[in-house]
Amino acid sequence: MKQNLFVYNTLSRKKEEFIPIDPSHVGMYVCGPTVYSDVHLGNCRTYISFDLIFRYLTHIGYKVRYVRNITDAGHLEGDAGDEGEDKISKKAKLAQLEPMEIVQKYTVGFHDVLEIFNLLPPSIEPTATGHIIEQIELVKEILAKGLAYEVDGSVYFDVEKYNKTQDYGILNGRNLEDMLNNTRNLGGQEDKRGKLDFALWIKAKPEHLMKWPSPWSVGFPGWHLECSAMSHKYLGDQFDIHGGGIDLMPTHHTNEIAQNIACCGKNPANYWIHTNMLTVNGQKMSKSLGNSFLPHELFTGNHSILERGYSPMTVRFFMLQAHYRSTLDFGNEAMEASEKGFKRLMTSVGLLDNLKAAAVTEVEVEPMMQRCYAAMNDDFNSPVLIAELFEASRIINSINDGKLKIDANNLQLLKNMIHLFVFDILGLKDEQAANDDLPKLLNFLIGLRSEAKSSHDYATSDKIRDGLQKIGFQLKDSKDGTNWSKI
Ligand code: AMP
Ligand code: ZN
Repeated sequence: MKQNLFVYNTLSRKKEEFIPIDPSHVGMYVCGPTVYSDVHLGNCRTYISFDLIFRYLTHIGYKVRYVRNITDAGHLEGDAGDEGEDKISKKAKLAQLEPMEIVQKYTVGFHDVLEIFNLLPPSIEPTATGHIIEQIELVKEILAKGLAYEVDGSVYFDVEKYNKTQDYGILNGRNLEDMLNNTRNLGGQEDKRGKLDFALWIKAKPEHLMKWPSPWSVGFPGWHLECSAMSHKYLGDQFDIHGGGIDLMPTHHTNEIAQNIACCGKNPANYWIHTNMLTVNGQKMSKSLGNSFLPHELFTGNHSILERGYSPMTVRFFMLQAHYRSTLDFGNEAMEASEKGFKRLMTSVGLLDNLKAAAVTEVEVEPMMQRCYAAMNDDFNSPVLIAELFEASRIINSINDGKLKIDANNLQLLKNMIHLFVFDILGLKDEQAANDDLPKLLNFLIGLRSEAKSSHDYATSDKIRDGLQKIGFQLKDSKDGTNWSKI
């Protein structure tokens, strides 16, 4: 099954068979968040898509080195990310905090959210500020190749010169002239020789907070350079997969490729994978458009466009019901449908353990399993996979109702298939099971406490009450017994 995975490659604009450089290892780099604010649901969609890819590649036997960076400096506000104020510094000034306090706060928040959505951590999570030396080295190499120039302490990449020997538009499929004609002349770019040139190193203004010494000035690296430096350091001159949201493709990734080719002579990644956008009423969800909402607002329903809240696994399921390359429009109705679908799936999964094997079988699981693999091998097609799992869930219900017979072998295979695809590959969790356990556990503790009380062991009964209070549960005694509530 490993042999015939097909992946859509933005570089060639078609699905290609996935053949890694090393037959047993995969190197994958995904652009991480700029940690200056809470991640919104759109960002989560991209990371959930790569989590699915990471999980599947690992399942089919590859040792995957998954590098996802944290951008903690150098991402400026302008369209191309290299004009205006540094997003993190700006936030730090507004909040009267150290930039690193901002970075810490939102990095922790990012990790918390991804954990709630049950994402696996990447193998390496490098930060831009931890790799300033590597970035300075790259700038030196690009300068030495004659493809960058210095003006007053800042260094810029010379796109037009580079394009004389290379194809700058290799990823976005556009030619240079078209790009030049369709790029606005932005203010504050007088130092750049060409409209498309971008900063590799930026001299810091005196008030700038995060800056480092370099051969050119006390300054900071350009955003595009960070990813080139970190992917190169951990995955080498050339690796298998580079990913990110499709919005990063026209500029950020185009510039990353130019930098890597300029210094190492190679396009860094063989397969460029881009996820499509989560939209709201057809518009990209983004912080600057004001249509974004945060995961916890979705869980609680506390947002003007939400009719009510939805659980994290419902949201993950909703995301996975769309293919990662399609846009996905957020809506209350769509969420409700996903909630129903997810519950239906989980209910049948819950029946699996009670199913009885028969001596004969009317269900052949092997072909179902093959169809699940075929869906994933076709460019990680999770909606088709989920349709197959719904079919499996109908079969489980029929077996449970005594309308279909399954033998022991097929039953075991069915259980394996469901656990593999639902939990390991789609990364879903049965929230209901976890919720059911909690009241049982609390009632057990309440029972222990009343036993202690009736034998006048008040030290133990108080310990139980106070201990629960500390972890967020309040016990209330009444003449009918003891109730608990979440604080
Ligand atoms: P940023 O922190 O803005 O660099 O974004 C982090 C990641 O989220 C990038 O890979 C973006 O492409 C992705 N992203 C941003 N907005 C959306 C959206 N509405 N839908 C899906 N992915 C998004
Ligand atoms: Zn990047």
